[in-house]
Parts: sequence; structure tokens; C-alpha cells
Amino acid sequence: MKRALINVDYTYDFVAEDGKLTCGVPGQAIESEIVKITKEFIDNNEYVAFGIDAHEKNDRLHPESALFPEHNIVGTSGIELYGELKSLYDENKANENVFYFEKTRYSAFAGTNLELKLRERQIEKVYLVGVCTDICILHTAIDAYNKGFKIVIPKEAVASFNQGAHNWALQHFKEILGAEIV
Ligand code: ZN
Repeated sequence: MKRALINVDYTYDFVAEDGKLTCGVPGQAIESEIVKITKEFIDNNEYVAFGIDAHEKNDRLHPESALFPEHNIVGTSGIELYGELKSLYDENKANENVFYFEKTRYSAFAGTNLELKLRERQIEKVYLVGVCTDICILHTAIDAYNKGFKIVIPKEAVASFNQGAHNWALQHFKEILGAEIV
């Protein structure tokens, strides 16, 4: 079964100490694991997608505007990938198996061509890594489930600012979405 890695939202604003909407320490703690898995997929010539939250400044019609402070604004340093993952991406961005795309909702499938990219490659299984476990990873996992993809969650490579919600989401992936937690 062909597999792909979907890297979700591991950006400065979501991870750095002074990021605009940071997961903080739990987010920073998964850096080496997320880099290791991403490198494994790249070295194996497997598909790696980076689905990155991207917002416009003062976008009052966006539903998140009522819920969160502004974050991941296009053109700012906050939207850039965080830490070693940014270096790894920069070294490999010309690789035909590496696909960076912007998303504007929690799910990496919402309003993007991610599904088309996966179907073109006969990919049936998606590995999800990044932040936050209970928000963008969760919504991406639900869409993946509804579209018939098998789901794998490397649990050391997902994190949230909310540990209770993180734990709840891991259980939901396993028991409700049939995901493999590794
Ligand atoms: Zn957002």
C-alpha cells in the first residue's frame, strides 16, 4: 500500500516560544521526531506534503477571526516552517516528491488539491504529523477517514497546547477513525 506523509502546520507561529498562536513546549518537543520521520519519507522517495495554514491580514470574514488571534499571515515570518523542519524542507523543496501547499481551514483537504495529488499517486495510507493534535490533525484525519484513506499517527510527532485534548484526540483516531497509532 503506497503511503504519504502529511506535515501539518509546524510553523513559527504555532511552535515558537513567541509564536502568535503557539503550542509552546509540547510543540517544540516533537521537533526532532517530526524531522526524523520527514527525512525517512524523503530518503525513501515517498511523497511528503506540507499543508500549511495561511491567512490574510484583517480577514474579517474568515471564521477563525472570531476565535483566534491573527496567525500564519502570508508574507510574515510566522508562516515559515519551524526550526530544523524548515532547514530540511529548504534542502528538499525542489524534490518532485515534496509538495508544499497552503490551506485556509483546519483540514489539509478543505479547499486544497491534496486529495488529487494523493489519488494521482495511488496513495492509500496517510501518516499525519504536526500540530495541533486536536485541531488541524484531527480535522485532517476525519476528512482522510471519510475519503477512505488509511491513517497512521506517529504519536511522538503530534502535539497540542492542551494535553487533555491531545489525549482525547489520540483515542479518537484509534477507536473512531481506525487509525494506527505508532
Ligand atoms: Zn488558522
